[in-house]
Parts: sequence; C-alpha cells; structure tokens
Amino acid sequence: MQSEASAYQVLLYYQYVEIEDPAYFAKKHLKFCQSLNLRGRVLVGVEGINGTVSGTIEDTERYMKELKEDPRFEDMVFKIDKVEGHTFKKMHVRARDEIVSLRLEEDINPKEITGDYLEPKEFMEALEDDDVIVIDARNDYEYDIGHFRNAIRPDIKAFRDLPSWIEQNLADQKDKKVLTYCTGGIRCEKFSGYLMKQGFSDVSQLHGGIVTYGKDPEVQGKYFDGKCFVFDDRLAVSVNRTDEDKVVGKCYHCETPADTYINCANVECDKLHIVCDSCKETHQHYCSSSCEEHAVSFQ
Ligand SMILES: [Zn+2]
Ligand SMILES: [Zn+2]
Repeated sequence: MQSEASAYQVLLYYQYVEIEDPAYFAKKHLKFCQSLNLRGRVLVGVEGINGTVSGTIEDTERYMKELKEDPRFEDMVFKIDKVEGHTFKKMHVRARDEIVSLRLEEDINPKEITGDYLEPKEFMEALEDDDVIVIDARNDYEYDIGHFRNAIRPDIKAFRDLPSWIEQNLADQKDKKVLTYCTGGIRCEKFSGYLMKQGFSDVSQLHGGIVTYGKDPEVQGKYFDGKCFVFDDRLAVSVNRTDEDKVVGKCYHCETPADTYINCANVECDKLHIVCDSCKETHQHYCSSSCEEHAVSFQ
C-alpha cells in the first residue's frame, strides 16, 4: 500500500562519463530539474555527473527515465530512498572541475585505473577475512557517526596528507588485500585507483557504497556499526538491519553514545555536531557556551 507518508523519493547517482561543456549542461539541467520541482545538488564536470535530488515519486521517476534516454547516462545506477517530503531546501546545479572533492595531489581517472568492484555480498565475505585492511574513504565527521567494523579512518585533515600517512602506517602492508568504501561509491572509484598508484597490489571497492550495501536483502547491512551520514536534511540513515546494530557516535557535550547530528544554533558557527537527547535540550542546539552567549548578546 502506498501511504501518503512515502510519496517522495531521494535519488543518489553518479556517472563518470565525458561531458563536453559542463557550464552549458549545468544551465540546461537546472531548468530541467526545476520543471520537475526537484530539489537537491548536482555537480557537473568534464569527468561526469554527481547528484542527489528529492521530489515526488512521479517527478523523480520521470527524471530518471529522461536521463537514461541520454546514451551517456543509460547505465546510470540510481539509489532510491522513500521519504516523507523534500530532503533539500533548494535546487542547485553547478559546474565544477571535479565532481567529487578528494583533493588528491594528482587527479585520478577511474576509467583508467580503479579497484575491483565488490558487490555487497562479496564485500561482506571479504570483511570476514582477518587479514584484510579496510580503509574508509570519507571525512572524519562521516566516520564518527558510523562505519564498517574495524575500518581505518586515515587520521589526516586533507587528502594531500595521505601519501605520507600511508608511508608511516601501511608501507609494509602493500601486498595485503585492501577494501575501500564510501557513501555511494563515487569517491572510491578514485580513491581505490589512487591506492593502486601508491603501490597497493590488491585493492577492491564496495560497488554502490554503503547506501547500496544497506539495501541488499541478503547482507542486511551486516558489520556496519552506527548510521550512514548523508548530504541532505536527513543527515544520517540506518544501514544495519541485523540484530547487531549499535550506536558508535558520541555526544559532543557529554560523550554518551548518540547518533543525531545537528548544526549549531548560532548561524555564524553552524558547526555540525553529534548530540544526545538530553544535551540537545540543555544546550538548546548550541555547540558551546561561547555560541550560546553570542546568541544571547544579540537578543
Ligand atoms: Zn550529551
Ligand atoms: Zn557553535
């Protein structure tokens, strides 16, 4: 039964394919998205397209159908989540040099070099091997609210620091099996290729990312602890549907287990931080006492 509550969908998709004039494409694509009343964020570059949009089921279905009629996007995989309403406030389509920001020193073309693709079940089985290295290709705040069990988060501020981090921490393990994963798979296409260029001999990536893994009926999100950070108003979604699901995030104020992200109520700060229910009340959505005082001084 189709209930009123799930009359909307969020789409997550990407395609590495040459787009000749990204600025022109972006302009046309924005009009197309607006004509369908979609909201979300789409990045377009010479290397491809990376998008996430929300809309009614009818509008999002039409969007997917029309995109797939373009030979460049006929193989595009859409990850679809049912939601209660729009999960974005506006519609943006922007032309960029890179459709995903890894800020690698030297850019990687995943059509030339990328790791082996593992489907969710293959990835789950590979995780069961004790001798495997699992590297999270996402940012620290994404890792903090949920990640694969035993996954390493490179302790770096920017990807340009990655080569030296690898040399310090994994230099003697380049012949081991390495698994990488990210939200929807787009970052790993480059990240896994990058690791291969750094000399790792056996690199695989989770095809379709955590989002696809969480939907797989056989895998049920097994071995993923916590929630998956997403770049829309939902901020985090559930992944693990087995009875092993747990909370790995910690409240920014009191460090008790929590998995709700909020932005600081001081709009000038806007800091994304994890809070527990009780601190959310007592700190009134502020990340710190200075932000709280800052707001008071404006009243
Ligand atoms: Zn707390
Ligand atoms: Zn703040």
